Amino acid sequence: MADRKRSLNHVSGCLLGGAVGDALGAPVEFMSLKEIHHRFGPAGISEYAIAYGRKGAITDDTQMTLFTAEGLILSQVRGGDLKAYQVPPFVYQAYLRWLSTQQTVHFEHLVRKYGSCAMVDGLLIANKELYSRRAPGNTCLSALMSGRMGTVEDPINDSKGCGGVMRVAPVGYFVQPEAVFETACEIAAITHGHPAGYLAAGCLARIISLISHGADLVTAIEKTIEILKTWPFHSECLEAITSAEQAWQEGPHNHRTVEKLGRGWIAEEALAIGLYAALAAEGDFDRGVRLAVNHGGDSDSTGLIAGQILGALLGADSIPDKYRTGLELFGLIEEVSEDLHQRMPDRD
Ligand SMILES: [Mg+2]
Repeated sequence: MADRKRSLNHVSGCLLGGAVGDALGAPVEFMSLKEIHHRFGPAGISEYAIAYGRKGAITDDTQMTLFTAEGLILSQVRGGDLKAYQVPPFVYQAYLRWLSTQQTVHFEHLVRKYGSCAMVDGLLIANKELYSRRAPGNTCLSALMSGRMGTVEDPINDSKGCGGVMRVAPVGYFVQPEAVFETACEIAAITHGHPAGYLAAGCLARIISLISHGADLVTAIEKTIEILKTWPFHSECLEAITSAEQAWQEGPHNHRTVEKLGRGWIAEEALAIGLYAALAAEGDFDRGVRLAVNHGGDSDSTGLIAGQILGALLGADSIPDKYRTGLELFGLIEEVSEDLHQRMPDRD
């Protein structure tokens, strides 16, 4: 396919772009649109403001995306050429390491329970900046604390919160295209058992994968819908994606239109808002992430999804300096992107 986007610039564009959207949305995550307009003016938030004690702070969404990437990378380091279905347990282990950074459990407890020092290694767990709670989702915490790994076949709960979709983008680069959708669904189902909770994740990873192989966003969405329709219980997710496309075609492109797609607390709405904002961005990263975060919902997750898609399309050098400067964990995100790119099949 022409114009592949499998360079380091595009992989780090996806991960950094997502972190930028996450950090831009973090200060307004729990604000209504009225409160956002009151505090930041009619255009809404358009540069980093303070959240978690600093400007440019990332949240649990970026933390977990990094742990997804680490799980994927370690699956190859440890397992060699695994089949796609063998990959999710490595990501589960990575999420348990993330859980331990949230100080809800202790290393000793983990080692005792799982009996392996593999639980406490990896690159990320040595980074003390990740030992910070950034409003982690209760579903992720409780599912991981249960000691059981959820799967599509054996759901761990009935949650369709956006905690599954907001962390799976790296799957789009790592897994062979034909296995991306299912692998991302399984990785989301580790903590989110409702079909919409994992199918939205399958869609996002598949869209990232198609973009990386040269598809434009509209084509990537179309091809993803074809796969989505083959899965049972896909109607909520399909409806959300269709609404996003319709909102983009009809306009006007503003904060009110975003709110018609929902608030993003649930997976298919977060995906819909992210997609809509990326479509309406018309190739302008800044425009897209601002559209994605200025609404009265889960602004950091929707900002992250839009930022990942736009970064995957446009590359890291499309991210304006105002967002590169002061982004928390910038160096670490670049490092993880390099590792991921290095291990990608068929990279540029
Ligand atoms: Mg968050």
